[in-house]
Amino acid sequence: MSRRLHCQNNACKNKFSEHDPRVVSQLPPEWQHAFPAVLTKRSGIDKKVLFNLRASIAEGMGPEPFYRILKENHMRRYYQLQISFMSNLYAKLKAGSVITLKPKYPEFHDNNGYGGFYPSSRYLVNVYTMLILMHEPSLLGQIAKASGKVLKIDFSHKVTYLLYLILT
Ligand SMILES: [Zn+2]
Repeated sequence: MSRRLHCQNNACKNKFSEHDPRVVSQLPPEWQHAFPAVLTKRSGIDKKVLFNLRASIAEGMGPEPFYRILKENHMRRYYQLQISFMSNLYAKLKAGSVITLKPKYPEFHDNNGYGGFYPSSRYLVNVYTMLILMHEPSLLGQIAKASGKVLKIDFSHKVTYLLYLILT
């Protein structure tokens, strides 16, 4: 989804990812918005999910309930597919098919099978914080004011941790 860029300037020799905000911010706005996800070091999140998260937090729902809703939606899809799998199998058996292997529906987290995944609430807070720091640093102050806590912005992990405490 994103390649590694190596600066050809001998004095610089920096390396960037194509999704690095410093690279993306140089694109025209319509291209900046066209990228469908926010990528992090080891993972990524669909912007649709991120905008829902942002709206949920603005409406007073913290990342923990949002995480539970995400998890429920992913698990519902998993169980719906399991029901389809079982009823197809039942229809085949009823029609007289002989099934020699013992049918086994994969576990949700089985990477060689279903490969199900939903992000943790901590991850959601981290991405949300990153989004605020990138686009709306003034929002940090508003969140801190609303929660009655003093927020010291030093652009370190302390901000993420404090936001985590405020939001959860
Ligand atoms: Zn350079």
